[in-house]
Amino acid sequence: MKNSQVKTVNSKNPQQTFNLGKNLGKQISQGICIALKGELGAGKTTFVQGFAKGLKVSEKYYITSPTFNIINIYPAESFTLCHIDLYRVASVEELEYTGFDDLTGENHILIIEWPELLEQIDFKFDIEINFKFDDCYNRILSLSASGQQGPNLINKISDKQNIL
Ligand code: ADP
Ligand code: MG
Repeated sequence: MKNSQVKTVNSKNPQQTFNLGKNLGKQISQGICIALKGELGAGKTTFVQGFAKGLKVSEKYYITSPTFNIINIYPAESFTLCHIDLYRVASVEELEYTGFDDLTGENHILIIEWPELLEQIDFKFDIEINFKFDDCYNRILSLSASGQQGPNLINKISDKQNIL
């Protein structure tokens, strides 16, 4: 990510990753596009579960990786949460077939797992989070942000995490 600001936070357990997501979800006040990178099992979907909670997606939805259906859409209080997983997507056409192009607009929150697998698509990410396994802290999340709202948001959530 160009011209980005980077913050690193440690997560010692799934609940902390969930809470980081939740804190970010709570701060969202306009449409945003977020990239989640990292190996399988690194915690991306756990983060999205917390994020959905912060956005006030109804408890009746259980959030899992949309590995087979590519996109899961959830109504939230003021937004529509679009959770996308590109892990099994082989081409741009396949993604377009899902109606992906219609998911733009101020009220759409896009959160995308495995964005690096479809480099042909020029996503404009406000925030990118890299999830890494770590011996001491369990997981390390590196948050980078650019644009107008991204840097402000990552400052807020990483500062909160430090006092947990
Ligand atoms: P991904 O979407 O990146 O494949 P998931 O969130 O689906 O990953 O799975 C992460 C798994 O790792 C879960 O089983 C979770 O309980 C476990 N886990 C252990 N420690 C952590 C942590 N610090 N953060 C997130 N998940 C963790
Ligand atoms: Mg996942």
